[in-house]
Order: sequence, then structure tokens, then C-alpha cells
Amino acid sequence: MGEYVLRTKDLTKKYSKNTSVDGINLEIRKGDIYGFIGKNGAGKTTTIKMIAGLSSPSSGEIELFDGENVLDARKKIGTVIESPALYPYMTAYQNIEVQRIMKGVKDKSVTSQLIDIVGLQNAGKKKVKNFSLGMKQRLAIAIALVGEPEFLLLDEPINGLDPSGIKDFRELIVKLNKEAGITVLISSHILSELAKFVTCYGVINEGKLIKQFKADELSALTAPKAEFVVNDPQRACAIIEDVFRVPNIKIDGNSVVVTGFVQKWDAIQKFLEDNDIIISTVNKSGDSAEEYFLELMEGDKKQ
Ligand code: ATP
Repeated sequence: MGEYVLRTKDLTKKYSKNTSVDGINLEIRKGDIYGFIGKNGAGKTTTIKMIAGLSSPSSGEIELFDGENVLDARKKIGTVIESPALYPYMTAYQNIEVQRIMKGVKDKSVTSQLIDIVGLQNAGKKKVKNFSLGMKQRLAIAIALVGEPEFLLLDEPINGLDPSGIKDFRELIVKLNKEAGITVLISSHILSELAKFVTCYGVINEGKLIKQFKADELSALTAPKAEFVVNDPQRACAIIEDVFRVPNIKIDGNSVVVTGFVQKWDAIQKFLEDNDIIISTVNKSGDSAEEYFLELMEGDKKQ
């Protein structure tokens, strides 16, 4: 029990004739840091708003905390969506206090604890209007943390941050995840930064969830592959396994696909031909993680 923080079933949002989110099935487990990736306009914000209850789905279902009553479950969610609404003439402390009182959290010490957690101790009496973007982002997270949420939804939180702001943000999220056990969904179109700390990915393009996978599956997905299209895949596969001792090999229709072992590809091809296997095509592929995601996000990656 208690395994899934979020599951959506065919979640869809239509605005008049346009389908912004098109039947997506997200699965986020307790303890995940889920990177929700897609280019501008892919449907990330719309999805996050539906999860948070700020927008109602046109169809489909949202299951939170393994089917808990949605209204109760949403009390366990903290959100930072689009530009956070902060009071510019107040300090960080005062901004958090407003939220603490609104949420009915009695313990006053929560406010200074949150200031410490997000690293705004030095902001002191500075008003929010004079904060850097990174400081505003941390304050927004502190506000989202009032009430001890178990699930944080962060929409494009690293947009506009400089490299040191991104690093601080990453460390904060990892700390919240590891020490407080908070599950996090972070949307972004900047893959290189997310790749340093997310544990799962969901890639969205034109409202559709193109692929969802664990971070440790990425190296297998981007590994170099050679696909030998042959007249007798069973015999070709047996020969390659026998002679070359290739561990990652599979038959896919008329093809034999070898993963890794790049330095042996030419020798394999020659050996097959010498053994009367007719090879019609050899398709070689291998992406960097960056290329792989770009192709997924553009929707032209073969699934
Ligand atoms: P971005 O990073 O640019 O915010 P996104 O992936 O978050 O992109 P969304 O903001 O969810 O994308 O938008 C998805 C699509 O839905 C876009 O085509 C957008 O124009 C459309 N859309 C979003 N909100 C509305 C709305 N209130 N009315 C009509 N169309 C909308």
C-alpha cells in the first residue's frame, strides 16, 4: 500500500476544439523525483493544474495517494505553478506567515524552520521586491511547504535561474526528497539540468505522454544498437550468440538487434555473410541522452 502518489487515467483537457492534454496516463510513485519534460506548449502546465485541482479535466481520472478522497489528498499537495504570487512589499518571513495563518497551522516556529530549510536566513528584512529570481523561487517553495505536503508540484521552477541558482535549487529538492520523503514532480524543457537529479521521466509532446521511464533505464534506451535485417533471424541470432558471445541480443521480426558491442559490428556482419545469411540492411543507432530526449520531445523518435 501507499505506493502511488499519482496515477492518471486517460487524462484529457480540451479548450474548444484544441486538445491540450490528450489521454495521458502518468504514474508517480512515492519517493520519486519525476521530471515532466516537454517543449513549450506541450501541455505540462495544463496537466499540473488539473492534478492540483486548479483546472477540471474534460475527461479521464486523477487518482491521488492510492485512491484517497481527492479533496483530502489535495491537502497533502504543495504547488508552485507559473509565477508564484508573492507579496512584494513583505519580507520572506511575512510572506510565509500569511500562508501559515491562512492554512491554519498553529505552530509559529514553522515559519523560521521553513526559512532555514530553503536557505533564506540571510534575507532578513529585505523585501521580496528586491529578491533575486532564485530567492523568489525558494520562497515560493517555502510557501508550498507550509502544512507539510507529501507531494510537491513544481511547474518550470528552473526557468530563468542562473547556474548557481539551479544548483541551489537542485540541492534543496534532493534534500526535501531524501530527508523529508517528499515526492516531487518538476516540469521543464531543460533536460540537462533535470538529468542530474530526477529518478523518473515522463516526456510529453502535443498533449500526449510519449514515454515514461526510470532514470536508470536511460542508458539502456540510449545505448548504441545495430539492427541486422536478415533472411533467417533465428539462425543469425544463434550464430552471433555462439561465436561472438554477445549478451544483449534479440530477434525483432526479420531483424536481429545487437545492443552495445560496437567494435564487433563489422565482424558480425562479415561472419553472417560468410555463413550464407542474406543481410538486406544494417541500421545503426545510438543517441546521446540529449538527442534521445530531443527526438522524443519532437515526436519523431521510433517507440
Ligand atoms: P509552457 O512551457 O509554454 O507553459 P506547457 O507545456 O506548460 O508549455 P500548456 O501551458 O499546458 O503547455 O499549454 C498547452 C496547450 O494548451 C497550448 O497550446 C496552449 O496554448 C493551450 N492552452 C493552455 N491554457 C489554455 C486556455 N486557458 N485556453 C485555451 N488554450 C489553452
